[in-house]
Amino acid sequence: MWPACAGHVVPLCLLVKLCLSMEQSTSMNRIATGDSDHDMLGPLPLPSDTSRVKLVHLLAIALEGYRGWHEQMARLAQRDALEEFLGYAASTVPYYRDSLKTLSNTPDLSDFPLLSRDDLVREGTRMHSENLRNAQVQHRFTGGTTNRKSIRIPRDAVSWYGFDLYGYERWSSSERRIASQLRPGKTGVVHVQNYLHWKEESLFLPGMNLSLLRGRRLGRSPLCDRTLVQFLRTEPVPILSGKPSVLRYLSEIDALIPPDPTTIRPTIILVGGENLHDDEREYLEEWFRCPVYSEYRSTECGLIATECSFKRGHHVMPHTVHLQVLGRDGVARDEGTGELLVTNPANRCVPLVNYRTGDWATVVRTRCDCGFEGQTITELFGKECRAFQLGGRTTESRELARLLEPFPLLRYRVHQRAEKLFIDWVPDANCQDALSVSNAIEALLGSELGATECDVRPVSYSGMQPGIGSKQLRFASRIA
Ligand SMILES: [Zn+2]
Repeated sequence: MWPACAGHVVPLCLLVKLCLSMEQSTSMNRIATGDSDHDMLGPLPLPSDTSRVKLVHLLAIALEGYRGWHEQMARLAQRDALEEFLGYAASTVPYYRDSLKTLSNTPDLSDFPLLSRDDLVREGTRMHSENLRNAQVQHRFTGGTTNRKSIRIPRDAVSWYGFDLYGYERWSSSERRIASQLRPGKTGVVHVQNYLHWKEESLFLPGMNLSLLRGRRLGRSPLCDRTLVQFLRTEPVPILSGKPSVLRYLSEIDALIPPDPTTIRPTIILVGGENLHDDEREYLEEWFRCPVYSEYRSTECGLIATECSFKRGHHVMPHTVHLQVLGRDGVARDEGTGELLVTNPANRCVPLVNYRTGDWATVVRTRCDCGFEGQTITELFGKECRAFQLGGRTTESRELARLLEPFPLLRYRVHQRAEKLFIDWVPDANCQDALSVSNAIEALLGSELGATECDVRPVSYSGMQPGIGSKQLRFASRIA
């Protein structure tokens, strides 16, 4: 009745307890479960931000997804799993069926065309598996990083759990400090967003001892932001998650609110959705006094790789993702530097084969000290510009970052349009004269890089925030 796979067993008495607490008032002090250990837990607190009907609905889907996801991971570990998935995609997805109709045998990976985001937009529901028609699905939308046309991504319970929740469960399984804190009905994860239409709600996490994932939104009003900071200061938070730019924004709000005896102290921070630069990691680790790890994921492909606990790159999800690198010669390989191609056997709703992510990275096979063995992303550029064309020569972004390091910059953004370089920067607390700093940066880039056209200007912190729902790109170029 309850999923017992992957070492996670959710006690039946907790389900009884949850159901009882749904039926009775929250003033109930004790539930007779016949199990003294669980009696000691007291009544199971219910989140006040989510209606009980919605909560039960979400719990039912999460349980179905949890069980299905773990069963699917076990199936995908078998030798013929990729072959089976390709056959499934070729037979149930109209786009693939048409593309491969001249093929007489079972298709392999090289038979499938490269798939781009534009293909997903153009083909629409022809990319969806016909097996979805009778499934209960929800939809997610991805607008990409550059406000391109959004794509509707349907999900069943299994892909929802695997895409959105499994990453947290994975960290709680591997980090004893997190697992020891998880209590039914207590906060397990706080995910902070700044999407305009993000709805704040909570749901139970079956893979994390029925603790709660609390979704919270920043930027609604100063009062709401203050309330969130005070909540985070008083509530133990095993995992705090969000985009780096959003968590940085959270820290800025935290700094504006007078300190009290408690501070925001998550056990770990998990970031995703944007590149995590070294200085941002250092800043977040210093402010929140905890380790920061990142995940590589996307709305289309779900969780692709998680950062090594020893911080030695991002280890690619074994079995649930088949990752290749598309080199400049147009050949896909398991290792190398180039655009990442994802085939996602875990996605039975929108099976993606040879999907061009638009993200650039270096992938190698490693045997890591953390125990992982397999593909590891050692450099993840994502959609950031890796090199600029300036003054007739190529300058790597990391070289630009090195030149800017001595300046009193809290944050900065380098964008190139045509031959002109635009640098927006936020002064840090040590900056005395912003105009002099701008002039010094412009002079240095001219002498060191031959950048003759620069527009360097100090901006306010809010001027640097990415648009709502957009990703932060530190380095970008329209011509690279
Ligand atoms: Zn490792």
